[in-house]
Amino acid sequence: MTVQAMKEAVCAWSRQSYAEHLFAGTSGNLSVYDPEQDVMVITPSSIPYETMTEADIMVLRLDGTVLEGPHKPSSEWRMHAALYREKPEVGAVVHTHSPYATAFAVNNTGIPTILIEMVPFLGGDVPLAPFALPGTEAVGTGAVAVLKERYGCLLANHGVLAIGKDLEQAHLRAVYIEDAARICSIAMGHGPIVTMSEADIAAMRGR
Ligand SMILES: [Zn+2]
Repeated sequence: MTVQAMKEAVCAWSRQSYAEHLFAGTSGNLSVYDPEQDVMVITPSSIPYETMTEADIMVLRLDGTVLEGPHKPSSEWRMHAALYREKPEVGAVVHTHSPYATAFAVNNTGIPTILIEMVPFLGGDVPLAPFALPGTEAVGTGAVAVLKERYGCLLANHGVLAIGKDLEQAHLRAVYIEDAARICSIAMGHGPIVTMSEADIAAMRGR
């Protein structure tokens, strides 16, 4: 993939995520990584999504060296870099503060496996990564530690992280995390929730 195509993808999925209310204000960030070129293409810091163009998107090495772009990279670039460094199968990262899922992060609890589609799309439940100061590599290493056969997690008192082979997949997973959190919140308002049994989760994984 060319760097230009990566910039276009980052811009397009950022604007879509903003339109879907996965991002509010200038919060949230997303990136793609090409290991062959060792380039991470990531959203800039504090630029409004409504007016963002490909020219605003930043191109970095995983050590933070800026190769292209007129702005500061997202303040969470270290988190993105940690995921690419530690999980070579990951080609894209989407980080949101989507409200229902972030509410679970504020409760400091993960989202249990309550829906069948959580198994194929998210790997099962959505675990909680421990609190880490924003902007530090610890946000990423804390996420890596809980992303074992899982495709997304919550960041305590912060937000949501979804990974994928590309932005289409990582974005879809971020959407499913918010959907599961919203449905779980509604169900908890009705009374006790019933999570899927380990046997049924295992049977679905085997398919
Ligand atoms: Zn954040």
